[in-house]
Parts: sequence; structure tokens; C-alpha cells
Amino acid sequence: MNVVFCSSEVFPFAKTGGLADVSGALPQALARKGCTVKVFQPLYKNIKPEKLYDDYGLTRLGGVDFYFIKNDEYYLREGIYGTPKGDYPDNLERFSFFSKQVLEVLKKINFSPQIINCNDWQTSMVNIYLKLLYSKEPLFAKTKTILTIHNLAYQGLFVREKYPYLGISKQYFTPQYLEFYDKVSLLKGGIIFSDLVTTVSPTYAREIKTPAFGCGLEGVLKEKGKDVVGILNAIDYDVWDPAKDDYLYKRYSPNNLADKAVNKTALQKELGLKVDQEAFLLSMVSRLAEQKGLDILSEGLDEILGKYQVVILGFGEECYHTMLGAKADKFKDSFSLNLKFDESLAHKIYGASDAFLMPSRFEPCGLSQMISYKYATVPIANHTGGLADTVIDVVGGGGGFVFNNYSASDLLLTLERAQSLFKNKSQWQEILEKIVNYNFSWEVAAGHYLDVYKSLST
Ligand code: ADP
Repeated sequence: MNVVFCSSEVFPFAKTGGLADVSGALPQALARKGCTVKVFQPLYKNIKPEKLYDDYGLTRLGGVDFYFIKNDEYYLREGIYGTPKGDYPDNLERFSFFSKQVLEVLKKINFSPQIINCNDWQTSMVNIYLKLLYSKEPLFAKTKTILTIHNLAYQGLFVREKYPYLGISKQYFTPQYLEFYDKVSLLKGGIIFSDLVTTVSPTYAREIKTPAFGCGLEGVLKEKGKDVVGILNAIDYDVWDPAKDDYLYKRYSPNNLADKAVNKTALQKELGLKVDQEAFLLSMVSRLAEQKGLDILSEGLDEILGKYQVVILGFGEECYHTMLGAKADKFKDSFSLNLKFDESLAHKIYGASDAFLMPSRFEPCGLSQMISYKYATVPIANHTGGLADTVIDVVGGGGGFVFNNYSASDLLLTLERAQSLFKNKSQWQEILEKIVNYNFSWEVAAGHYLDVYKSLST
């Protein structure tokens, strides 16, 4: 089956969050299942394709062709979407240009896809252009389109004055199509014009049809009915495996968790925390955005830092940089704050920590909890979205700690519960030995995607 996969970030070429992990791993897993997959993303700064043409670049990796759409004015910038102060003002132009070029390059290389799988608002326009401008092209006569929603909170909303840049008829700027409360919503257009919508966990697929999580699009999603499918994400165990992870201070296998302690000591030393195996080391590796639970974390942080060691690696909105920076000044011995994107440090943190914090207000899927399991690091999570599908409390026989009310007090109580188990060495060891054997591999998840692709193309 011929598949085109479009994404604004693809690991290992560009990454700000989980979308990149998925876009790097899923296509390669589909290729292993016999699909011919071409992945498209913009040619950002620092990407060096194997081959470079006038309008695109190309790299072959893991049986997949990765194409990079070129436009130096649009893509040779420091950030992918913007800076900590906000989004680039021309994101509509940047990503609609990209989307059109995907279809143009497909024509140029004469590749006829059965499936185009777009991801989030940035690439929604590919499916919209296909329906509105390219439907008569013989190359796309049998093409079915999918939009995968990784996060409904990012909708690609723009002032109505931007609409003409899209180059589609005025008749689609109505509430039935791309208009959303007087604005242009690229995600809404993507939902409406795609043959099928998937999202990244079964619970989130249900949640987004409700006002609490639907971000105003619950009606449109409800109308789509059964054509909204939840497929749980997975992680790439070639990238995330402490037994072969070169970033770690010392690699360790599930059979030798004693070497995890070496990583804890080394990280504590490197980050200037007290070197102490008995300290309960909590960590967070995250985009710093509202959804990640930073408000309840900040409310409880003084108390947390009085009792535990905390490492945060994060980058995102300026207000959270400032808020966390103030705490870091106050709690120098127990808090290590690292405001940057750092792949290497992320691996070291997963490897060294005792527990991983995911107090997210909402979480479409979340990959960090799956990564944590593999590194024998116990997730502490709010019961929402994909976290509800993957983190079961130890009390219920699972391998994590879960709180059900989104509040600082519930987070604090859950941390206390976790720490008291941490102090019981044999029980804690039992949990670690259990979670390292959990399996969230792409082999299974890619099979679900393939089933969906097949159901559309017959
Ligand atoms: P989201 O997609 O909302 O960002 P996920 O949990 O799905 O959240 O995925 C986050 C991914 O991004 C993980 O691989 C995580 O390790 C990585 N990540 C997030 N922030 C950083 C950072 N500052 N440095 C390195 N890796 C990060």
C-alpha cells in the first residue's frame, strides 16, 4: 500500500514534542509491514538531506523516504512554530505553502498514494487541497485521506483576513467549513474534508466529543460519528531502551536495575543536586504549556521541593519559564531547572529518576509515561486521556500512581503515597520489575493504522 505521511515535525530531523516521535517511528513500522511510505516535512534549519533539489530534499531511512519541502524564507528560522513569546505571525502562509507543495512534489515524482495521513492543523491543508483543488488529478483518483489529531487544543486559528492566502474559494469560509467564530480554523477544515479522523488514544477519542475537551469542535467531531477512531500511540524501542542507550551514564538492562542507581548518582552530581540514593527523585521532561499541569504543580511546588528532589527539563511558554525560574532561585539544593530542548539530557533523566511527573490537565496520549516504564521510572499521572489508558494505579494492580481530581492537593497526596512505597525497597523493586516489561511497541499500533487504511481503501 502506498502511504503519504505529512507532519510538521519528524524525529530525528526536528522535534518539539511527541508528534515528532510518532512521525519518525510509525512510518518505519508501516514500512516493515510492507507499505511504501513517503514522509513529508518542512526543510528546517540544521536539516541536511542526502539529496537536495530546487524545491525539496530527500533522505532514506529505515525503509522510508523522508521528503523535506524547501522554502528558506519560511523554514530557516530558530523555532519550528515560533519563540517563547508566541507563534510566528505567518504560520498560515508557512504551513499552507507546505501543504500545497506536498501535492506538487507527489505529482513531480509521480507517486500515487492510496492513503494520505496528515497530522494536526499544520498539515490539514493537504487533505483540504486534495479535495478542493486536486480531485480531478488521475494520480489522486483513488487517494483516501486521514487526519490524525495529536492535540485538539492547537487548532491553527487565524484572523479572517488571512483566508485569501489559502487560495481556495470564498464559499468555504462559512461555519459549515473552515470558519470558526469569525476565524479561520485549519484543523476544523481538516476534520471536515478528511475521509477519516484518528486520534492518539481511545479515551481521548471519546473525550473530544464532549464540551470539556472538545475545544469548541465537539459538535463537528460528533457529526463525524464512527469516523473518529482512537489508536493508542506507541514508542520506538530502538530509540528508547536503557540496555542500548548511548546517552545514559551507564546502560542497564531489565535484569540489572542496580545500574540504574549509577545513573541517579551521576545525574545528581551533574545537575548540582545532593548525591543521595535515598532522596526521592522526581522528574519532568515536557513542553512547558498550560495543558501539562504546570498550574497545580506550581501551587504545590514549595511543598514538593521541601520533601523531594525535582528535575525539570522543559521549553515553552515564557510565563512558565519565569514561574519555574523563581522557584529554582529559591530551592537551589532540591530543584534542577533546565529550560531548553535537550535530547541527551532527556534520556539521562528518564534513566536516573525514581518517578516521572505527568500532572497534565489533559493529555491526548502522552509518550513520556511509556518511556518511563521502559527505564524503570514510575509515572505519577492525572487520570485523563491517554494517561487513563496507560497508567493504572499500583492499588489497582498497575505500575503507576494516579490521581483523579486535578488539584495541587491531590497531586501532593499522590506523591506522598508514592514516596512511602519508594521507602519500602522490596515493594518498589517489584513495581520496577513489572513496568520494565510493559510493551507499547509500534508493531501493534502500526497494525491498527494499517487496518484503518485498508478499511478505507477497499
Ligand atoms: P507532547 O506531544 O504533548 O509534547 P508527549 O508526552 O506525547 O507530549 O511527548 C513528549 C516528547 O517530547 C517525549 O519524547 C519527551 O521526552 C520529549 N520532550 C519534551 N520536552 C523536551 C525537552 N525540553 N527536551 C528533550 N525532550 C523533550
